[in-house]
Amino acid sequence: MLNIKIVGVVGAGQMGRGIAQVAAASGFDVRLFDAVDGAAARGRQTIADGLAKLVSKGKLTEAQASETIARLHVAQTLDAFADVDVAIEAATENFGIKQAIFANLDRVCPPHALLASNTSSISITSLSAATQRPSQVIGMHFMNPVPLMKLVEVIRGLPTSEETYAAVIALAASLEKTTVTSRDIPGFIVNRILMPMVNEACFALYEGIATAEDIDRGCVLGLNHPMGPLALVDLIGLDTTLFILEVLHRELGDDKYRPCPLLRQYVAAGWLGRKTGRGFFTYA
Ligand code: NAD
Repeated sequence: MLNIKIVGVVGAGQMGRGIAQVAAASGFDVRLFDAVDGAAARGRQTIADGLAKLVSKGKLTEAQASETIARLHVAQTLDAFADVDVAIEAATENFGIKQAIFANLDRVCPPHALLASNTSSISITSLSAATQRPSQVIGMHFMNPVPLMKLVEVIRGLPTSEETYAAVIALAASLEKTTVTSRDIPGFIVNRILMPMVNEACFALYEGIATAEDIDRGCVLGLNHPMGPLALVDLIGLDTTLFILEVLHRELGDDKYRPCPLLRQYVAAGWLGRKTGRGFFTYA
């Protein structure tokens, strides 16, 4: 089986940072790239700050933190992926953006390298068609926040080979993640179930059924959820949530996935959740 030593991560947003951190902490050499100038370096710094906090809380040793950060390299261009064994794409949830990234990864990564996407909803099969190595393309859907959440959904595209699948299952295990396997149908397992639920919470707010606080409190105390659906959308990102709902609505053709107009309006206002300091709730 493919011996994975070097992991490339595309996108230094909240998910890419988490994946890069977990891979570096698990002993992999990591390359982190973002299209926005300086974003990968800022991402690396955010990871370093987070690790320092864990050290101060006694959850990590000084040595573990410095070894992790030493394995994490900022890539100025995608050409730095010329020696990776696997590239994990965690860029913005947009088909055109991801399609271009996969074509570029196919060009720069060595022939043996696997190309994985952390997409929440976009077809792995369609992304594989942007490459000359469709059997080596697969979905690796991490959960947010990556260092804390145990699950990785593995999505097999139509052309994904057994070898690719087995290598990615082994990679997830070495990142200390548990896997579930999904067919390449929009939303896969988790978002197919989650998105209608959080969208309904947006509709409940839109229709004035209750305040955002009470909708969330109702779900936390009434359904025993660890956090309310609107706070969860704030964590995921309202833009990402809208992108995923649009994919489900378009690809499955069922109006039950119609994104709530209020969600669209908040995204139009730039209220994207925690990452912008304001979504359904406000953050300092
Ligand atoms: P984010 O907005 O925090 O980060 C996206 C990053 O991608 C940004 O830094 C952006 O500059 C970068 N980017 C955009 N185009 C790029 C390109 N061409 N090349 C390199 N970098 C590029 O988004 P996120 O929440 O980290 O989500 C990233 C991916 O992970 C999406 O596919 C999303 O669906 C998926 N995902 C998100 C969550 C979540 O809870 N947010 C959970 C699981 C999976």
